[in-house]
Amino acid sequence: MLKVNNIDVFYGNIHALKDVSLEVNEGEIVTLIGANGAGKSTLLKTLSGLLKPKNGDILYLTQSIAGKQAQSIVKSGISHVPEGRRVFANMSVEENLELGAYLRNDRDGIKKDIEYIYELFPRLDERKKQLSGTLSGGEQQMLAMGRALMAKPKLLLMDEPSMGLAPLVVKKIFEIIKTVNEQGTTVLLVEQNANMALSIANRAYVLETGKIVLSGTAKELQESEQVKAAYLGGL
Ligand code: ATP
Repeated sequence: MLKVNNIDVFYGNIHALKDVSLEVNEGEIVTLIGANGAGKSTLLKTLSGLLKPKNGDILYLTQSIAGKQAQSIVKSGISHVPEGRRVFANMSVEENLELGAYLRNDRDGIKKDIEYIYELFPRLDERKKQLSGTLSGGEQQMLAMGRALMAKPKLLLMDEPSMGLAPLVVKKIFEIIKTVNEQGTTVLLVEQNANMALSIANRAYVLETGKIVLSGTAKELQESEQVKAAYLGGL
C-alpha cells in the first residue's frame, strides 16, 4: 500500500531522515519506534505532504506522492493525527469532527460517520457541544483521531497518541486503534512507548538519528536484546 524508498529529508542543513525505506501493507498496523528527535514526526510529515524529500520516492497505491500537496494526499486516502493533538480549541467537538470531512460533500455519509465516531468514542458523544479546548488530554486525542477518521482514510498516520496520557487512557486509545484497524483502516503508528506500540502492531521499524536501524515482526522486536535494552526499559 505504501512504499517509502530511500528518502532523505532536510531542515536547512539538518539531515533529519537518512536514506529511509519502509513499507506498509494493506490491513497492517506498522509501528515506527524511536527516541526523542529520531525523526519520527519528520517521516509522518513527509508522508502527508508537509515536508518534501530531497531524494527518494514515496509510492502510495502505485502512485508517487513525494512532494505532492497535503490536500491531494488527504484526498487520496491518507490522514494524519499530529503529535500534540492540535484540535481547534474554540470549536465544539462536533464542529471539529465536521471539519475532518471538509473534502467530502456526501452530507448523509458525513452524518452517518459522525455517529460512527460517537459509537467508537462515547466520551465524545457526551461532549459533542463542549468546546474542544476544555477537553482532557485523552479526550482531545480521541477527537484528533475521530477528526482524522472523518476523512475516511485508507491509511491512518498516528503521531505519538500516548504522549502525556495516563496508562489507562493509553490502553483505551490503543484498543480503539486496533478496532479501527480491524474495521479496515491500515495504520502507521509512531511511538516512543515501544511496549504499547509493539503490543498491537504486526511489524515494526526502529529509527535512530534519522536512520532505520532495525525492522521485523512486532514479536521479533519485542524479543530483540537491542530493543529490550534501549526501548523496553530492560524488561
Ligand atoms: P519527538 O518524539 O521528540 O517529536 P521525533 O522522532 O518525532 O521526536 P522529529 O520531530 O522528526 O523527531 O525531529 C527530527 C530532527 O529534526 C530533530 O533533530 C529535530 O531537532 C529536527 N527538526 C524537527 N523539526 C525541525 C524544524 N522545523 N527545523 C529544524 N529542525 C527540525
